[in-house]
Parts: sequence; C-alpha cells; structure tokens
Amino acid sequence: MELKLYDTLTREKRVFRPLDPANVRMYVCGPTVYDFAHIGNARPVIVFDVLYRLLRHIYGAKQVTYVRNITDVDDKINARAAEQGISIRDLTESTYANFKADVAALGCLPPDVEPRATEHIGEMKTLIERLVASGHAYVAEEHVLFSVPSMPDYGKLSKRPLDEMIAGARVDVAPYKRHDQDFVLWKPSKEGEPAWPSPAGIATPGRPGWHIECSAMSWKHLGETFDIHGGGIDLVFPHHENEIAQSRCAFHTPVMANFWMHNGFLQVEGEKMSKSLGNFVTIRQVLDDWPGDVARLAMLATQYRQPINWTLKGLQEAEKALSGFFDVAANEAEARPAPGVLDALLDDLNTPRAIAEMHALKHAAGRKSLAGTLAFFGFRRDVLDEWRQAQAQAIAIPRDEIERLISARNAARAAKNWAESDRIRDELAAMGIQLTDSKDGTTWEVAR
Ligand SMILES: [Zn+2]
Repeated sequence: MELKLYDTLTREKRVFRPLDPANVRMYVCGPTVYDFAHIGNARPVIVFDVLYRLLRHIYGAKQVTYVRNITDVDDKINARAAEQGISIRDLTESTYANFKADVAALGCLPPDVEPRATEHIGEMKTLIERLVASGHAYVAEEHVLFSVPSMPDYGKLSKRPLDEMIAGARVDVAPYKRHDQDFVLWKPSKEGEPAWPSPAGIATPGRPGWHIECSAMSWKHLGETFDIHGGGIDLVFPHHENEIAQSRCAFHTPVMANFWMHNGFLQVEGEKMSKSLGNFVTIRQVLDDWPGDVARLAMLATQYRQPINWTLKGLQEAEKALSGFFDVAANEAEARPAPGVLDALLDDLNTPRAIAEMHALKHAAGRKSLAGTLAFFGFRRDVLDEWRQAQAQAIAIPRDEIERLISARNAARAAKNWAESDRIRDELAAMGIQLTDSKDGTTWEVAR
C-alpha cells in the first residue's frame, strides 16, 4: 500500500513515509472556543478524520497519534465573555462541550490528544526563552516579538519571499516592532485579562500570541519534528508560516512537519459565508435539519483540496446516496474499505472517487464490502434510520407513498401530461412535501 499526499510546502504530491511507522504523528489546528463552530470549521475536522482512519487502517490503530488543539486563550474569547457577563472558563468550557458534541454527531473519532493552550503556558515560555536566547526573538515594550529577518527562508510555505515582504511597508505598524512582519509571541495583559508570569525577564504579567501555542503543543505531544500538520487553507499565512518559523528556529531543525496539508475554502450556495450576508451556517444548525452522517457525506463529495460549495442540493443528494447505500449494504461487517475505495483514498484522499466506488458496490455481491466501507468511514445506519423515521413521522405519510407519487408525477411529465403533473405536485405540497426538479431527477424535502 502506497499512500500519496499533497504537501503544500513543496507543492507536490508524494509518497508518505512516516518518520516512525510505530508512531505516525499528525497535528491539526483546532477551534478557538468562543462560539458555535460554523460549517467551514467542520471541513478540516471531517477531512482529517478520514485521514486518521486511513492511517489507522494502514499502520494500526495504536500506531497513530492525532493531536488537535483547543485555543482557549484569545482576545475574541475575552471580548465574548465580557459581553455575556460570564467567566472566561465558563465560556470556553461550554463552547468546547458544544464543539465536541457537534463533531461527534458528524461521525468523527475523537483525536488521541486534545491539548488546551492554557495548560501549555510553560512550554510556550520555554520556546520563547530559547528564541530570545538565540537571537530569533526580542523584547520590546513588554512584548516578545519574533524577528522575521532572523530566518532567511521565512515565507516558504506561503511562497512570500522575505525581501518582497520587507519592501511592502504597511501603514499602522506597532511602534515597538523592529520590522513590520515581526509577530507577537507574548504580550502584556491589561487588568482583568487572563495573565501569566511573563518570560524573558518582563515584569508585567502577560499572555501568549496565537501562533506560539501550536508550536508548543505539537512539540509537547509529537516532538520537534513530526509527520503531518493540517488545517484549513486560510491558516497557511500567517499562522502556519509562523509556527514553522518558531519551531524550526527554536529546535534548529530543517522542517517542522514532513507534510503540510490544507483543505480548500467553503462557500454556501455559491457565496462566501459571512454574518453580514446572512448565510452564516453553524454545524448545530445543519444538525437541526440533517443527520450528521449526511453532512459528512456531503462534505466528502468534494476532494479536500478543492473549494467546496455547500448547498441544500448537496445535502439532499448526500441523503439520497447514503440511504441508497444502507438500503443494500449488509447489516454488519468489519470496518474495512473496499479495495477500490482504498485505492481512491491512497491517492491524496480522493473521496469523490471513493464515493463513486461505493455506488459501484450497490449490487448483491457488494453488500458486505459496502457495509465494511460505510463502517470504515464512520457512517452509522441507526443515525440515518432514526432521522428517516422522524421525517416520516413529521409528515405522517410513509416514505414509499411519497416516492410512489413522485414516480407517478415523473411518468406524467414524461407523457407531457402537465395537468396531472401539477396536480400531484399540489397534492404533495398539501402534505408538506416540497419538490425540487433538476437535470438529475426530482428530490423532495419537508417544507419548512
Ligand atoms: Zn495552529
């Protein structure tokens, strides 16, 4: 078995060989816990869950360590807690509990370690002290800053050459920075903000910058150099670029991780998701309407590096596909991907091809293999059945009856009997069923 993965740093797809096959190590940047996670946040969680399952399949479940951090110290957290009049701890605890419940509902395995930033302040300070001692960081006005020009090959991940960055001056650069690209490793805290005794001889208590936490937690749990570092494409610059700078300069290593993997952007119904556009969708809102497994399949219908367009139609199609799989799959099977599915995943997680392979297994001889594949991906029959049951109850008519009427309407349409086709559409509408016609056929949903 040969796994090929695309590495953002070297811009190539190449064969994955772990540093230590007995302990394959993966780090993925996790959530900043101040609000419900949105559907864009679900993408890396689902994508790297599939990779985690694949690595466990190849190397053995006990031979893989997956670390996903929790950012529980951040200015957005402080602001939100103050706004709600609750303690920072209460806010981060409840938000984290919601996140855990959401991603479990999406069928994702919990990582082996979920370290919290606030429990790794000591490691962050050690890294900061090392960077100051080796001239890669400096103290200015009670801040510690990373000196970007101290690292000649800074900018390799995001392909931003250093001299270009030095030439491009910005308007509002903090006056204590020697260079406008220098970034914060530690900053002083004001009264009422979370604070810890500062490193590097700074008297005022302070708190860490965001980037340093991932360098500290990956070091603590995976070592100075590890196999895979993942996250969303939006993290390439500055977050991952700065993680690389901190870790490599602190440990004097040529690489931080051997593979840098990034999932593409997510849009909603063809538009950028934003609160101002009113199309901001949380995972919780999706789970109010759909089983987590349908959302999971909808996400995997696009290869992880491609941008994804999150649509109602995509969810409807995923539901149809998943129902179709479970309708023919054997009731039980050992979690194991079918050979064609495995082949597709070994090629840089080609999930659309894997799903096409699953469709090809929808025949009597494929029942067991399909069931094993569904279990491998973490799809659960009971979750889907429960939802289908609830849907049927909500509309108080059997699913078969709806499908019979849709076929009758399609037959009427094929015969150009528009009066009959409209009559059936109205009959279904009266039952609360809304139809959507497309070139691929007719789908239905309970009108909301
Ligand atoms: Zn990170």
